[in-house]
Amino acid sequence: MNDHYRTWIRDIPDFPKQGILFRDITPLLGNGPVYRDAIAAIAAAARAWQPELIVGPEARGYVVGAPLAVTLGLGFVPVRKPGKLPYKTVSVEYALEYGTDRLEIHADAIRPGQRVVVADDLLATGGTMRATMDLVEKLGGVVVGAAFLIELKPLRGRDRLGDIPVYTLVQFD
Ligand code: IMP
Repeated sequence: MNDHYRTWIRDIPDFPKQGILFRDITPLLGNGPVYRDAIAAIAAAARAWQPELIVGPEARGYVVGAPLAVTLGLGFVPVRKPGKLPYKTVSVEYALEYGTDRLEIHADAIRPGQRVVVADDLLATGGTMRATMDLVEKLGGVVVGAAFLIELKPLRGRDRLGDIPVYTLVQFD
């Protein structure tokens, strides 16, 4: 099954810079039944964690998080780059390979104690998802699981997510 989805992910060498092998999910997204089945598989895993809300970082986190939320009949909360959200925000700074970046969430997006599943397209070093989880926790939410289409295993992103269940549809060694 894993191999079935793998054939819908395209490898692009040297993107966005020399030496990076980019895993391109647009072929998977472009095929209705494959996209639907991929979200259904993620939803089956996430349902067991009994979430009340789905949170995802821009931009590709939305193509996993939003359909996941709709499938489970839950709300979706976007995490965005600075200056994009219109209402009062809470933010976190996180380290990149060179320098830092910042992510924001609406200050009233999560109720204290609410059970949250975080979702993104791809788990690499885990920095993006760690920052997303930090935002959820700042608002008092409880992260009950993390879900991704793809995991780049050698980068050990799971290690940064702490003691929560992590589901990935396709793994690359
Ligand atoms: P991390 O923060 O190092 O785990 O990187 C994950 C983030 O970078 C996700 O939001 C992805 O959308 C993006 N990303 C990193 N590498 C790739 C890739 O090969 N394909 C698609 N997205 C990637």
